[in-house]
Amino acid sequence: MNKTILAAGFLILSTNLLAQSKPVFQGQGEVRPVETTSRPVQKQWKGNFPFENGAIVFSNNFSGARLNGIMQNNDSTFTVLITPENVPVNPSPWYSFAIWSKRKRTIYINFTYPPGVSHRYYPKISANALNWKPIDSCDYFEKKRPARSDSATADVSIRLSLKPDTLWVSAQELQTVKHTLNWIKEMARKPFISYAEIGKSKEGRPLYVLNIGRRRSKKMIMIISRQHPPEVTGYLAMRSFVETLCNNSPLAKQFRENYSVYVVPLMNPDGVENGHWRHNAGGIDLNRDWTKFNQPECLAVSKFIKKQEKETSGKFYFGIDFHSTYGDIYYTVDPKLRGNMPGLVPEWLTKLKASFPGYDPKIDPNDKMEPAIISRNYFFVSHGMEALVYEVGDNTEREDLKLKGKTGAIELMKLMLSKK
Ligand SMILES: [Zn+2]
Repeated sequence: MNKTILAAGFLILSTNLLAQSKPVFQGQGEVRPVETTSRPVQKQWKGNFPFENGAIVFSNNFSGARLNGIMQNNDSTFTVLITPENVPVNPSPWYSFAIWSKRKRTIYINFTYPPGVSHRYYPKISANALNWKPIDSCDYFEKKRPARSDSATADVSIRLSLKPDTLWVSAQELQTVKHTLNWIKEMARKPFISYAEIGKSKEGRPLYVLNIGRRRSKKMIMIISRQHPPEVTGYLAMRSFVETLCNNSPLAKQFRENYSVYVVPLMNPDGVENGHWRHNAGGIDLNRDWTKFNQPECLAVSKFIKKQEKETSGKFYFGIDFHSTYGDIYYTVDPKLRGNMPGLVPEWLTKLKASFPGYDPKIDPNDKMEPAIISRNYFFVSHGMEALVYEVGDNTEREDLKLKGKTGAIELMKLMLSKK
């Protein structure tokens, strides 16, 4: 007998999901103002999905999971349904679930999404939810759909070898609130780093800032990441960047004597914990709320920045917001617009490119800063920060993105010290 389990409250989604992946990603178009007052979010039913009297069990009962429904097609094939928290939403269909089986067996899993959404993230698997690897290419099957210019690249299925031990399958490595807090605490073991709560998310989770530097300098930089839950590669690059600013090199020590560094590593803890595709628990893309500040996460950071400026009578000279997309892109402020350290970002990107022979990422300067809408514009317009959005490719090799984060930090420190 085939058996179907659909998560309670399954939502029939309308077709206004946006899924416009182009063959070569050229960056996003103009960002338009949108309403950012809270909207309803579809809560995910959480628990275990047993089949064959519990001989095989799927689960979304963990932080960061997303599995909205599952169906058994035959003895060896299952179809999972992955849906977003609400619509419209960007085509970043996050999934994450666990499976165990009483006996050793091989199964196939088909991925399905709402109309217009195509599979995006190459599956990662883990035996302990800590160490991840991309699924073997022999176990990954992609059937091209009939060519359509505006959407849907492929139907995807995977083959898994199951055992009684749990196997995790996830769009990217799981980096939940707990993982991030562990990193924060690890960093704060250094004598010149502390951390503090600067506010709470919509669902009441703490928003943390790392304070880096022995003393509070009048010269400051601001780093944020993970406004968008699935963007794990941006988060990992951010960590490497920050760890380099905090290492024992003479350069980093000198930098920290001159600048205070503030880091909000996890802007959207609710979205991460709930396995959202994009939004916070208010159903809003946080990176559209930097004018109205309707959402507590953006408001907390804005208040924090203003407080530092007031208490030190100082300035923020640089602001960076780490994200992920189809390939490495730097969204910058047009160099003719001058902030607190003119020329910093273009010179930095020139140095960064020169550090990697053949590295030619897209650099996309923008001169339309108002209304601010996004973090980069807010950092620039309201605080004069030389600001940018750094988008790391979804599939950038993890060692490579760490190296870029590290090199970026080294070149930035050299430049900012030379300009002091
Ligand atoms: Zn993003």
